[in-house]
Amino acid sequence: MKILFICDIDGTIVPQEFSINEPNPEKAKSLKLSPKTLITLHMMRSHGDLIFLTGRGIGWQNITCKLLRTFLGKSKIHFHNLKGEWSMEKYLDFKLKNIKKISESYDIITIIDDMVEVLEYIKENFNQETKKLFLMHAKYDPIEEDMICYRIL
Ligand SMILES: [Mg+2]
Repeated sequence: MKILFICDIDGTIVPQEFSINEPNPEKAKSLKLSPKTLITLHMMRSHGDLIFLTGRGIGWQNITCKLLRTFLGKSKIHFHNLKGEWSMEKYLDFKLKNIKKISESYDIITIIDDMVEVLEYIKENFNQETKKLFLMHAKYDPIEEDMICYRIL
C-alpha cells in the first residue's frame, strides 16, 4: 500500500499572509514553519510520501523553497500554473487535476487544506473508487503555533 499526503501551504502550515491578488513579499518572506508544524509534517513523512500543492505561482519558488528547505529533495512542491486572472473555479480545477495526477501511483491519499471548498470539490470530483481518500480540514493556529485539524470530510 502506497501512502501519500498532499498538503497545502498558506493558511494550512503557515498563517495566511500570502494572497494571489495582493501578494505581500515582505510578509511571505518572513514566514517560518513552527516547531510543532515541523514535527507534524515529519510524522506524515515517516508514514508515506509528502507533496506540497500550493496556489503560489512559480515566481514564488525561491521564497517557498526556503520556507520548506527541510523537505527539499524529499518532498516535491507543485506550484500553480494558472493562465490569466485568478478565479475560484480555476483554482479548484487546478487542485483537482494536480491531485489526480500526483496520486496516480498511490493507494491511500490524505489531502490537507484550510479551504473547505477545495476539499468538498475534491470529494465530489475525485472519482477513483480503487483509492482510499481522506480529506482533512486543517488550519494553522497562531495561538497554538501549530496546524490544527478541525475535521475529516
Ligand atoms: Mg490555503
